Amino acid sequence: MKVLVAVKRVVDYNVKVRVKADNSGVDLANVKMSMNPFCEIAVEEAVRLKEKGVASEIVVVSIGPTAAQEQLRTALALGADRAVLVESTDELNSLAVAKLLKAVVDKEQPQLVILGKQAIDSDNNQTGQMLGALTGYAQGTFASKVEVTGDKVNVTREIDGGLQTVALSLPAIVTTDLRLNEPRYASLPNIMKAKKKPLEVLTPDALGVTTTSTVKTLKVEAPAARSAGIKVKSVAELVEKLKNEAKVI
Ligand code: AMP
Repeated sequence: MKVLVAVKRVVDYNVKVRVKADNSGVDLANVKMSMNPFCEIAVEEAVRLKEKGVASEIVVVSIGPTAAQEQLRTALALGADRAVLVESTDELNSLAVAKLLKAVVDKEQPQLVILGKQAIDSDNNQTGQMLGALTGYAQGTFASKVEVTGDKVNVTREIDGGLQTVALSLPAIVTTDLRLNEPRYASLPNIMKAKKKPLEVLTPDALGVTTTSTVKTLKVEAPAARSAGIKVKSVAELVEKLKNEAKVI
C-alpha cells in the first residue's frame, strides 16, 4: 500500500513570532523553520505502518519554496522513501494547497493520505477536509489511532468529550491529532542516507493547477499585552478583589 504524507514548512514552534511593522504578516527573516509538528506525527504514523508491513512505500509531499526541501529531507531521514516538492513562493490558501495535493494524489494514486490536522502557522485546520471533498475519498480527521485491516482503515477520532471510531474504505484521508504517536528523532546515519533518496521538484503549472487565491490577508496583529499581576496579602483581600474588581464571583 502506498502512503502519501503532506508536510508543511512552518516557523518552529519554539520561536516567538514577531509581527511585521506594516501588519502584513509575520517576520520570517532569520527565523528557524521546521516541519509542522502535526506533519511529524503524520510521517511517524506512515513509518510505523511500513514497519508493520502494511505500507510498502511512503511518499512525502510539500508545497512551498525551494527551502521546503529541508523538511522533505527530514521526512526522508525519518523513513519516507521518496519526496515531491511542489515549488511555489506564493502565499497559498488551503484550497490552493488542497488542489495541488489532489493533483499529486491523481499522479501517485496512494491508498492512504496522511496530513496534519492543522498547520501551526496559519491554524487553518481545513486542508485535509478540502482534499477529502476534492478527491471524494473517505476521511477520518483528528486521528488518535489508525488501524489498517484489508481494504478498510479504522480511525479513532478525538471528538469533544470522547472518542469516535470510524471505518473508512480505502483510499482514504487521515488527519493526525496530538495523541496519535510520539515522533522519533532521525539518526545521523539516516540523515546521511536521506541525502541520496529521490526528491522530485514540480510546479503548479506542470500539475495544471491555478493557485489564484480567493482569500487575502488584510491584517496580522500580535495579541494584546497582558497587564502585570499583583500580590494580595490575604484570602479576604483576594475574595474582595475577585468580587469587586474582576467581578468573577
Ligand atoms: P491547515 O489546513 O493549513 O491547518 O494544514 C493541515 C495540514 O495540511 C498540514 O498539517 C499538512 O499536512 C497539510 N498542508 C497544509 N499546507 C501544506 C503545504 N504547503 N504543503 C504540504 N502540506 C500542507
